[in-house]
Amino acid sequence: MTVAVVLYTSDLRVHDHPPLHAALAAADEVVPLFVRDPGVAAAGFGAPNRLAFLADCLTDLDDALRARGGRLVVRAGPVAEEVAAVAARCGATEVHMAAGVTAYAHRREERLRGSLGPRGVALRVHDAVVTAVPPGAVTPSAADHYAVFTPYFRRWSGERLRPARPAPRAVPVPSSVRGDPVPSRPDTDRTSPGLAAGGETAGRDRFARWSRTRLDAYGEGQDDLAGDTASRLSPYLHFGALSASELVQRARARGGAAAEGFVRQLCWRDFHHQVLAARPEASVRDYRTRNDRWRTEDEAAGDIAAWREGRTGYPVVDAAMRQLRHEGWMHNRARLLTASFLTKTLYVDWRTGARHFLDWLVDGDVVNNQLNWQWVAGTGTDTRPHRVLNPVLQGRRHDPDGAYVRRWVPELAEVKGGAVHEPWLLPEEQRARLRYPEPLIGLADGLARFRSARGRD
Ligand code: FAD
Repeated sequence: MTVAVVLYTSDLRVHDHPPLHAALAAADEVVPLFVRDPGVAAAGFGAPNRLAFLADCLTDLDDALRARGGRLVVRAGPVAEEVAAVAARCGATEVHMAAGVTAYAHRREERLRGSLGPRGVALRVHDAVVTAVPPGAVTPSAADHYAVFTPYFRRWSGERLRPARPAPRAVPVPSSVRGDPVPSRPDTDRTSPGLAAGGETAGRDRFARWSRTRLDAYGEGQDDLAGDTASRLSPYLHFGALSASELVQRARARGGAAAEGFVRQLCWRDFHHQVLAARPEASVRDYRTRNDRWRTEDEAAGDIAAWREGRTGYPVVDAAMRQLRHEGWMHNRARLLTASFLTKTLYVDWRTGARHFLDWLVDGDVVNNQLNWQWVAGTGTDTRPHRVLNPVLQGRRHDPDGAYVRRWVPELAEVKGGAVHEPWLLPEEQRARLRYPEPLIGLADGLARFRSARGRD
């Protein structure tokens, strides 16, 4: 009887899963394994929202494997040691896993090679599990990655994707391997009350429902903050409960401009992956320095706290920051304008904002979070690095009748229509009654400080 291990990381699904497929083809039995590595929490990535969503994903994966005659084996400990122990226990000769792009993923792979190699166990790393097109598959002629999105998108669109694979019918798991109980959601009040349910089943249901009812409105309504036409699939993609490659193929099969717009957004995800794969240090260091001398956290402590808590006095910024805490998710447009407000209007280091997002976002990941923050801060791949989003104009454009602000900022619930974006223009006695803060800073002052810091005044 031959045995192979499938090490699950950011790919918690049974559909379109090349490592599971390959392991089943290579061996009589497989051990689907997930290791709770204390290194992840120690590195500050154990945010309660993501731990809760992860627990849902693991439970759902275990159910899916049980429905196929198997189960998920969960262990806790340093990943390389746990995998080696499981492989030894069941006599496995191969371990299959998805390729990762972060520095952490590279270190994990090295450790696994170090612990498995001497024991004669082969590590097989599969591409295009986490992304649709693997990082490095398309490159410009004179560089190791694309630094500009549009030419990347053109090349990426011409790549052939492997056909999406169905879930296997049966997953035979050896009875000799023991594991811990599948973890449940952590018991903490730091989990967002409006957090979505995780798992492959929930993700597939969401995609099916969204593509039936909302996808057609996606193109035009993509930036409508109150309309909620975005897919909200990002957490499922983050944990790999959905396959990016399968989503691209299903959207293309449907066709039309809205579906193509959705595919373009999925390409942004691959774009950032190929940047970080080539420049892993960009998770913490400026990709392109602008020689910023950001205000220190001490100097800007009051502003940072107001931004985090959603009381900057700019309604659309405050609405978005409160949505983040309540749902562990934020609309892309809201992420853009809150990040621009912090880095450019308040002139605070993008790393401070990225850290707060990672504390709360259920889809928070090093690749997309850090590189989008850099994009907004102008230290990343944006070709217009010094642009500043005006929160009043953004509010009027993307929340014209103010419904999004009223949903999240109850102090302003009585203000009708778009007037909600400029509460300082309301009659004095109404303003006093609303108990909504005055703006932290005038937009012109923020802009002048930023332009002078960037040497552009
Ligand atoms: P949709 O609009 O439905 O898009 C479909 C999918 O495309 C998303 O699920 C996502 O996987 C991908 N996508 C869309 N836009 C982007 C983008 N700009 N970059 C990368 N992928 C994209 N996304 C994350 O997944 N994790 C993060 O930690 C994260 N942090 C961000 C921080 C900032 C400051 C900004 C500006 C953006 C960030 N994003 C992040 C990207 C984007 O905002 C979210 O992916 C998107 O809002 C998720 O909602 P959705 O699934 O409804 O997106």
